[in-house]
Amino acid sequence: CRADVGLYRAKQAGRNRTVLEMSERPPLAIELREAMERGALDVQYQPIVSLPDGTTVGVEALLRWTSTTRPDITPREVIRVAEENDLIGSLDWFVLRRACLDAAILQDAVGGHALMLNVNVSGLEIAEKGYVARVDEVLRATGWPPTQLVLEVTESVLDADSPAAIASVRRLRERGIRIAIDDFGTGYSSLSRVEALPSDFLKLDRSFVSSIAPNSTAPPLLSVIAALSVALGLPVIAEGVETAEQAALLTELGFPLAQGYYYGRPQPVVALFAELAGSRPS
Ligand code: C2E
Ligand code: CA
Ligand code: CA
Ligand code: CA
Repeated sequence: CRADVGLYRAKQAGRNRTVLEMSERPPLAIELREAMERGALDVQYQPIVSLPDGTTVGVEALLRWTSTTRPDITPREVIRVAEENDLIGSLDWFVLRRACLDAAILQDAVGGHALMLNVNVSGLEIAEKGYVARVDEVLRATGWPPTQLVLEVTESVLDADSPAAIASVRRLRERGIRIAIDDFGTGYSSLSRVEALPSDFLKLDRSFVSSIAPNSTAPPLLSVIAALSVALGLPVIAEGVETAEQAALLTELGFPLAQGYYYGRPQPVVALFAELAGSRPS
């Protein structure tokens, strides 16, 4: 781990900060690397449901680090630290491999019908040389079919400014792997640009769903996005559905898919397996 500390110091120095400013406890990046080496990272799964009938058609894999020294750290912070310290690659590979293995178990729980597995990919990672070959390798090693894998990337990644990422995306889609635009609606790109992006799903950001006020009609923007999704042939997965009322309204607007605490929180594979197997009509 000495090399890591050296690297860390070098990076800090590069940012015109002195090592003396460091706090007593090890920097987050070093704790994270140690957690990775100890196998202290975990993946949880949140159901993605078909809106008309509420059946589980997929799961999103979400990274979890239950740190005893940093109990309050959020997954978003973990991702940020990983991206800033060159750890994001290892993290995303860990999640993809783990998720491809766990998804086979979850698919058994839903009676073997094809389950879609959504995995988040950092924009930094997808633009790396050799990314697609490594995805191939994980799929080959785990046996998970490419046609049941959805990689989630943010809008900015598919921006024309990152040709390397676009090239990866095209090759992934040639294999039948699908691409979802995560946090859709929060990016800076205009709606007209979405048409040109090589993608298969829009993941409607949670902020749109939470803008649905109780006992009210649909926010006009939601109707516009529903129409846009039909026109572009890009099905929407609505994120952050927390109430029956939101689910009903989204269904009424014609959105096909949803995800959120109303349907289920992210949970360990064993817990979700039990839930899915238990709710299946026998
Ligand atoms: P995201 O991809 O937008 O994931 C959805 C987030 O919304 C998750 O937060 C999930 O727990 C949360 N969520 C789901 N339903 C609801 C709901 O009904 N209400 C509310 N309030 N929240 C809901 P989480 O797990 O904290 O992850 C945060 C972000 O961290 C993710 O946002 C994603 O950008 C990133 N992330 C997580 N795992 C990975 C990973 O393996 N690799 C990469 N690169 N990023 C990841
Ligand atoms: Ca996501
Ligand atoms: Ca995201
Ligand atoms: Ca999202």
